[in-house]
Amino acid sequence: MLVNSADSHVVEPLDLWVQRVPDHLKPRAPRIESVDGQPRLLVEGAPPRRMGGSGDTKSEKADKEKHGGSHFRAGGWDPDERIKDLDEDGVWGEVLYPTIALFAWLTPDFELQYASARAYNDWLAETFGQSARFAGAAMIPMGDIEVGVQEVERVAALGLKSVMLPITPPAGKPYNLEMYDPLWAAAQAHGLPVSFHVGTGSNPVTERGAGGAVINYVEVGLGAPRALSYFAASGVLERFPELHVVMVECGAGWLAWLMERMDEAYEEHATWVNPKLAEPPSFYVRRQGHVTFGNDAAGVVNREFTGIEPLLWASDYPHPEGTWPHTQETLTRIFAGVDDAERKPITYDTTARLYGLEAPSR
Ligand code: MN
Repeated sequence: MLVNSADSHVVEPLDLWVQRVPDHLKPRAPRIESVDGQPRLLVEGAPPRRMGGSGDTKSEKADKEKHGGSHFRAGGWDPDERIKDLDEDGVWGEVLYPTIALFAWLTPDFELQYASARAYNDWLAETFGQSARFAGAAMIPMGDIEVGVQEVERVAALGLKSVMLPITPPAGKPYNLEMYDPLWAAAQAHGLPVSFHVGTGSNPVTERGAGGAVINYVEVGLGAPRALSYFAASGVLERFPELHVVMVECGAGWLAWLMERMDEAYEEHATWVNPKLAEPPSFYVRRQGHVTFGNDAAGVVNREFTGIEPLLWASDYPHPEGTWPHTQETLTRIFAGVDDAERKPITYDTTARLYGLEAPSR
C-alpha cells in the first residue's frame, strides 16, 4: 500500500548559509564554530547546540566525515540516497521540513532572518525540487507581512509545496490578528498548506530541572492545540475556506479533546463568543485543520470523533524519534483492526492531495 510521510526532514549542509547569505551578513550567518573545543551550531538568537549523535557504525562514520562532524544519514542532503532509504522503508513521498532552519525564527534581526530563510528555500528547491517524491515546505520570515507575502509568491514560483510559519508567533502578535490576512490569502491563492512544526518560534528547552526531557517534549507539543484553536475560533478558517493549516510532529491523540473543548465554549459561553462563527469550531478543524503523527495509536482510535481528514501519518525521517527504518512494523501496529479504506487516506491520500505527492499510476 502506498505511503506518504507528512513530516520528514532534510539535514542542511553546514556551510549552506555562510555560502549563500550576502557578504555583510556572513559573519552572523547560521554556522558551525568550535566552543570550548566542541563543534557547536550557532544560530543568532538561539542557544548554541551540540552537533550529532554517537556516530559509531561504519556508515555513521562515513556520514559524519561528509557532514563536518555531525552524524546524520546522507539522505538528509542527498536526494538519491534518500530515495534508497524510502524504498527500503516502503514510503513513496515526503513533505520536507528543515533541521537547522527550525531555529532560524529565533533570530531577532529581520534582515538576517529573511536572508537565512531565502538561502534555505533556494537550497531546498534546488536540491529536492527535481523529484516528484518530495514536497518542500518553505520558511517564511516573520516581522514584515509584506515581505512574507513576497516570499510566499517567490517560493510558489520555485515549486515548493507548502509554507512554514513558527508555531509560537512573535510576542504580542498572535495568529488571530487581521494583520496576517494577506499571508493567509497568498497561501490560499497558491494552494499551499501552511505548516507549523512543533518547537519553532520559541526555545524548545524551557525546563532543566527534574523531569525536564519529558516535560519539554510535552511543552513543545502543546503549541499545536494552542495554534489550532487560534485558527478555528478566531474565524481565520471560516474567512479563508480553502486555507489548510497543518500542525506538525505534535501527535494526534489530543485532537478529540481540543474539538470538544472548543465546541463546549462555543455553545455554553455563547454570550461571550466573538466572532460568532456559522458553525462550531470543530467543523473548521475537520474541514481545514490537520495534525501529523508517527507512533500515536490514540489518534487513530479517536478517528470516529475527529474524522479522518485531519489525520496525516508521518515518519519524521531521519530523526531518531522517527519510524525509519521500521515504518511498516509501526503502521501494522497502529492501524491494527483498521480497514484499508480508512487507513489509506491517513497514510497516503490526504497528504497526496494537499501537497501534490501523487505516485504515478501503475
Ligand atoms: Mn518533524
